[in-house]
Amino acid sequence: MAMLEVNHLSTEFKTENGAVKAVRDVSFKVEKGEVLGIVGESGSGKSQTMFSIMGLLSGNGEVTEGDIKIDGKDISPKNYSPKDYESLMSSIRGNDMAMIFQDPMTFLNPVLKIGTQLIEPILNHNDVSKQEAEARAIELMRKVGIPSPETRLNQYPFEFSGGMRQRIIIAIALACNPKIIIADEPTTALDVTIQAQVLDLIAHLKDEIDSGIIMITHDLGVVASICDRINIMYGGKVVESGTADEIFYDPKHPYTIGLLSCISNPEEKEKKELHPIPGSPPDLLNIENYCPFADRCEKAMKICKMRMPEEKQYSNTHTCSCWLSHPLAQGKGE
Ligand code: SF4
Ligand code: MG
Repeated sequence: MAMLEVNHLSTEFKTENGAVKAVRDVSFKVEKGEVLGIVGESGSGKSQTMFSIMGLLSGNGEVTEGDIKIDGKDISPKNYSPKDYESLMSSIRGNDMAMIFQDPMTFLNPVLKIGTQLIEPILNHNDVSKQEAEARAIELMRKVGIPSPETRLNQYPFEFSGGMRQRIIIAIALACNPKIIIADEPTTALDVTIQAQVLDLIAHLKDEIDSGIIMITHDLGVVASICDRINIMYGGKVVESGTADEIFYDPKHPYTIGLLSCISNPEEKEKKELHPIPGSPPDLLNIENYCPFADRCEKAMKICKMRMPEEKQYSNTHTCSCWLSHPLAQGKGE
């Protein structure tokens, strides 16, 4: 059974000027031990997809359609009263669902020792004694590569480097044996060498834990080495989905091809600005029902601004929504 299953998810934000359609008919699954990358520019809908799943949309946001299941259990907001949904999700978060955020300092409490912050969730989620919880905390710190965990347990967050703090966050995430771990741009705040080390750690852990992992990023280069499958998002939609090999060696969507042409290399000292394609993402307020990429696409044809492209299945795992793949459109790029 999939650890997370999302079917036809749509999310809107109500504003004075109308509805901002942030997530539009998004479906995907994450299996146990699998890393799914969700990649897109800011405003593509990737973070709002995750906030919808976690029940953390801001006040005017609402899941308007779709089903969400975690390890077979339905957690779709429409099937609960707002009050029941709130209490359901607060027990799911940090229990079945763990999050790793970009900046560890927003998550760690600066005045509590690391040990306390790690032992507490272990005690909350497992039937263990204080000593057993401490032993498990030490084991987790070792697992995420923190040297001399027995001593470091008694230190405060400021005594750890950025990379070490991110490792602590990962250890806290693992403490509850979650079904799904969601990492939103987990390495952007780190320098490139540390970034590569944290990614190595996640790649290494995925074989040892029973969770599914979702990595959200704007940078395809980040997910290259660790993701099994990748969803490319644009304009609130998944425009292409495939295994890492399919996305890297046989990309179909012009947007994916654009992203690939400006991948950042973790070995490079300087971080490149990522400006894959001229232009900016579409305004999701009252967005039209045609290809969201049409205004920026070099290959755009007449039909692209008339109708939403149909999804074409290239393999069991590879799909792409672009009119170029339609038999009638072949070779007609203008
Ligand atoms: Fe470009 Fe048309 Fe394909 Fe959209 S549907 S990506 S505009 S070719
Ligand atoms: Mg984001």
